Amino acid sequence: MAETPSNTKKLYIKTYGCQMNVYDSERMAEALGGSGYTEVSSPEEADMILLNTCHIREKAAEKVYSELGRYKDLKLANPDLKIGVAGCVAQAEGEEIMRRQPMVDLVVGPQSYHRLPELEAKAGHGQKALDTDFPEEDKFEKLKARPKAKRAPAAFLTVQEGCDKFCAFCVVPYTRGAEVSRPVERVLAEARDLVERGVREITLLGQNVNAYHGAAKGGTWGLAQLIRELAKVDGLERIRFTTSHPNDMEDDLIAAHGDCGKLMPYLHLPVQSGSDKILKAMNRKHTAEEYLRLIERIRAARPDIAMSGDFIVGFPGETDQDFEDTMSLVREVKYASAFSFKYSPRPGTPAAEKETKMIEPDVASERLYRLQELITAQQHAFQDAMVGREVSVLFERKGRMPGQMVGKSEYLHAVHITDDVDVGEIARVRITESGPNSLGGVLLR
Ligand code: SAM
Ligand code: SF4
Repeated sequence: MAETPSNTKKLYIKTYGCQMNVYDSERMAEALGGSGYTEVSSPEEADMILLNTCHIREKAAEKVYSELGRYKDLKLANPDLKIGVAGCVAQAEGEEIMRRQPMVDLVVGPQSYHRLPELEAKAGHGQKALDTDFPEEDKFEKLKARPKAKRAPAAFLTVQEGCDKFCAFCVVPYTRGAEVSRPVERVLAEARDLVERGVREITLLGQNVNAYHGAAKGGTWGLAQLIRELAKVDGLERIRFTTSHPNDMEDDLIAAHGDCGKLMPYLHLPVQSGSDKILKAMNRKHTAEEYLRLIERIRAARPDIAMSGDFIVGFPGETDQDFEDTMSLVREVKYASAFSFKYSPRPGTPAAEKETKMIEPDVASERLYRLQELITAQQHAFQDAMVGREVSVLFERKGRMPGQMVGKSEYLHAVHITDDVDVGEIARVRITESGPNSLGGVLLR
């Protein structure tokens, strides 16, 4: 944080879930910076503890309550300690959090972070502070400009929030609300500001980022147009975006992967299942074949692209054959990495309200195991194929070994070298080894 007033209070934020929460936590810390807070790395030192929660998977709320329980002794020892809950569990549970855990002072939903200073002041006066509205005003506009302190070379920038897709299993449309895109000029201004502070790579974030449609002079821009404009920003060398829905991969976005040099060759494109019957039940609105043809078109534009995805196994009604269809799709795509989860019913979602019988837990576990084995094998194959190749690496930090530096390749692999490079430098590296989760290489000057 930039400002460090002498009478600082200490803020500890624990972040769960997706990159958007990481971005939101940064913005919350900045917002509370104006109320005299600086961030610390342990709850024991804090005057305020903020849990930035995620509601995407099983027992999310229960995990938050048990985490809160752990702070009881701290609160007893220091009654002035403020405890807050933010994020999607805050949105979903609202007042219930304070009822079940009376030591919580503040509950704030993802659309109300700009109101944090007021809420903190209220909590400071011993009152309970709650805000889980979906306010009309743009929270990003209301949040103060980002501080000018130098920062790490790779940053997140939220451009879109919420989702209108309503996949049958997913809680996001209810916790994050309807799709909203930030205006183009504001995104560009924040990007320029990040670059001034040393950022060279920006990952554009949105729950459904490729549905971006931001207001611009002369109309509305899609994500590809935004990326092409960002690519004109001097000093910004790399652009990524996540997470995308297959149905919003428009032609110009596919083309950008081929002709926009700053757009990195990595795409996270969740499909969830390889069975048309399950895709329909999930309300995904595309078939497995349509997804596969889409990937063909993306690979025609950018043949070396690293593909990533998300999968859910054990969705109600998933037969052995449906699962085998998922395995076939994975074999066909050959992912560079992918995330897979066992289905868990989220209260309030259509899938959870339906009567369809749940898959036996041990069957779902066995399927998840097999799928993850296949994905891991593909991940290793993709990594191993890098050995002997030259990649470009943005160095982000020192490694654990003496003299070691670690960065990311254009394909999002962690790459380490033992050589003299600066944080923020982009350099050519020849890959010499492939480890379980990273690559090793030597610097090419
Ligand atoms: N918008 C993105 C998309 O379309 O995939 C991301 C949504 S969510 C934050 C990330 C992933 O969590 C999803 O892609 C899905 O695989 C998984 N997920 C969401 N709800 C789930 C549920 N009820 N059970 C298991 N996994 C779930
Ligand atoms: Fe959830 Fe993604 Fe589907 Fe939107 S597109 S409902 S965020 S899984």
